[in-house]
Amino acid sequence: ERMVAGELQDEESSIEYSLRPTTLNQYIGQHKIKENLSIFIQAAKMREEPLDHVLLYGPPGLGKTTLAAIIANEMGVHFRTTSGPAIERAGDLAAILSSLEPGDVLFIDEIHRLPRAVEEVLYPAMEDFFLDIVIGTGPSARSVRIDLPPFTLVGATTRAGLLSAPLRDRFGVLSRLEFYEPEDLQLIVERTASIFQTTITDIAAAEVARRSRGTPRIANRLLKRIRDISQVKGETEISLKTTNLALEMLQVDDVGLDHMDHKLLKGIMESFQGRPVGLDTIAATIGEESQTIEDVYEPYLLQIGFIQRTPRGRVVTSKAYEHFGMKVDDT
Ligand code: ADP
Repeated sequence: ERMVAGELQDEESSIEYSLRPTTLNQYIGQHKIKENLSIFIQAAKMREEPLDHVLLYGPPGLGKTTLAAIIANEMGVHFRTTSGPAIERAGDLAAILSSLEPGDVLFIDEIHRLPRAVEEVLYPAMEDFFLDIVIGTGPSARSVRIDLPPFTLVGATTRAGLLSAPLRDRFGVLSRLEFYEPEDLQLIVERTASIFQTTITDIAAAEVARRSRGTPRIANRLLKRIRDISQVKGETEISLKTTNLALEMLQVDDVGLDHMDHKLLKGIMESFQGRPVGLDTIAATIGEESQTIEDVYEPYLLQIGFIQRTPRGRVVTSKAYEHFGMKVDDT
């Protein structure tokens, strides 16, 4: 498993749970989103109405689930979670929706993976809080209308573009989560350290932040491993030296890239010598799925300017060549 993958890995959920902030105030970074949500939440509470449906999108590990739970907490309602692939039939969705209490937040992770038939049942539910369910088959089939309590749907996805237009249009609030600034990530590292009941020096925390690809989940995961090593060494406080040693052992490089990123970048550099190359060609070259590259590997490489998207394909920039101590071969 990749140390620096943003996705949730096995056995991580219980730790994640204990690390999650529960109020908007405790949620670090994402200042614009927090500011907007705080106004929308206040207004909805004043009107005694449920909050508008919210779509949160961005790379894995940036805090979408956490934010959804915070919305429910701030609204003072229950938080129910499910995911696109878990809802196979319209009946599954009907069961969940009709069990909600007024105002509840239903969180659907990976909402872009809802089956089309389920998605269509969701439209009237989101818009007018009712379900149109067909019961029976053939000539005896009939459609029944079920009224639902008003609720708030919070959907999460890696890219808003993965959603069909009719589904996307039914969200009142669309928020894109950004990679975290190093200062914010450092605060997250320090907060996590204190929950772990350890201390970390400022420069060590800054180093973890700098090498965590702007992603809280990765920062927390790295810190956990660094803490193990620090503890075995008998340190009273996690030092920069131990941090560097641990990150080296974990094969996380100076800017937070790992062997998968190296494989991706070097694959393009060696096979295409800086010429633009299509996503599918890259996928075939390194043996990964196009969508994984686009949603998981590429966003951070774009963010730090190692890859650029051009109309003719992806290009590796001179900045990336420099990182590997190579020269652009533009002959
Ligand atoms: P996503 O749903 O986008 O994959 P999560 O909400 O599961 O991400 O967040 C991953 C982990 O990062 C959680 O354990 C949470 O504690 C931590 N985290 C995310 N965002 C923040 C934040 N803004 N402040 C503090 N911790 C955060």
